[in-house]
Amino acid sequence: MSDDRYHRQQLIPGWDQDRLASATVLVVGAGALGNEVLKNLVLLGMGHLVIVDLDDVESSNLSRTLLFRETDIGRPKAVAAAEALQEMHAAVRVTALTGDLRFVLGLARLHACTLVLGCLDNQGARSFLSRMCLLAQVPLLDGAMWAQGGEVRAFLDAEGPCFDCTLTPDERSDLWLRFSCSSGFRVDTNPSAMATAITTTAIIGGLLAQEAVRSVVGQSIENGNALVYSGQSCRMHRATLHRDPICPNHAPLDWSQVVPLLATADTLSAATVLAHAHDELGEAPTLNLGRDLLLHFTCPACGRGEPVGRVQGLISATAAMCPHCGAERHAQVTSTVSEDDAWASWTLAQLGVQPGDVFSVHAGDQVRLFAVPFEEV
Ligand SMILES: [Zn+2]
Ligand SMILES: [Zn+2]
Repeated sequence: MSDDRYHRQQLIPGWDQDRLASATVLVVGAGALGNEVLKNLVLLGMGHLVIVDLDDVESSNLSRTLLFRETDIGRPKAVAAAEALQEMHAAVRVTALTGDLRFVLGLARLHACTLVLGCLDNQGARSFLSRMCLLAQVPLLDGAMWAQGGEVRAFLDAEGPCFDCTLTPDERSDLWLRFSCSSGFRVDTNPSAMATAITTTAIIGGLLAQEAVRSVVGQSIENGNALVYSGQSCRMHRATLHRDPICPNHAPLDWSQVVPLLATADTLSAATVLAHAHDELGEAPTLNLGRDLLLHFTCPACGRGEPVGRVQGLISATAAMCPHCGAERHAQVTSTVSEDDAWASWTLAQLGVQPGDVFSVHAGDQVRLFAVPFEEV
């Protein structure tokens, strides 16, 4: 049918529009590269796009971002991109998640995706995303850019290399320390402005979307392959990345052991989860949040206290200064919930647990894993 929106691409041998329409593709980063990739995916008719980004649109983005307008300056990138995509093609589903990928992107939500495309601008986030994709057992195609070039790397499963395999053990532990979700106050990084232009972004975004299509329709993609483009020589070459035998990331979660919860994070209390686990496991259980929760500030100088109840990694270290006397306050932090903790009566949402998160409950040497519901993908 020539009146079909996808008629021309369906003439391509091996094309499978139904597979594209039923795929959920997660795009992490809605900057310049993310814009190019998302524009391609929505035109191709990918069924569901999930966008994660932490930032707001700035005027310096507008030279390289098809989906943003001047009126979007100051708005969250994920939301502005989602609206533009929806305008381009109303039938494509788009989900926008605004926030740090460590805290807004639950492992169960990731596990439900067909494919993940990394459109990030820093190594810490790349390393974290690669580790999450291995746990979630979802293939990752990672795009990277430099002044006059870029590359697309395929990290498909635990058998092949992951992003961290490309680092030395020292680089790896350094990144983990600086970009961890489990402890410490928020670390504000101001990545230095990178020299870049839309022409190179469009080439790398095109390659990334092309590899995404090949992956979704089931064509074979070489695990650990890097497709490298040099803008100076206008050449492209392939490189093979190797798995580091001592890289600790290659142990995917056993998803058959993950129990889906039926109630949402904002209605279910930790006490309810613990009571059920106590009945099942026969001894007092502990719920592990997997991240530090800042419960309370106490000022040692003026004695004033302040209840907080937020994930510590979302709070700037400057918040520890007492607003009354300026002294550094003591932060009461926990990463666990037991039956007799005062915060056991809080809902999972109040404890910083997000839709789609996976958390564990331990009792003795028994462990249970639970997945929090999220909107259907
Ligand atoms: Zn690895
Ligand atoms: Zn004080």
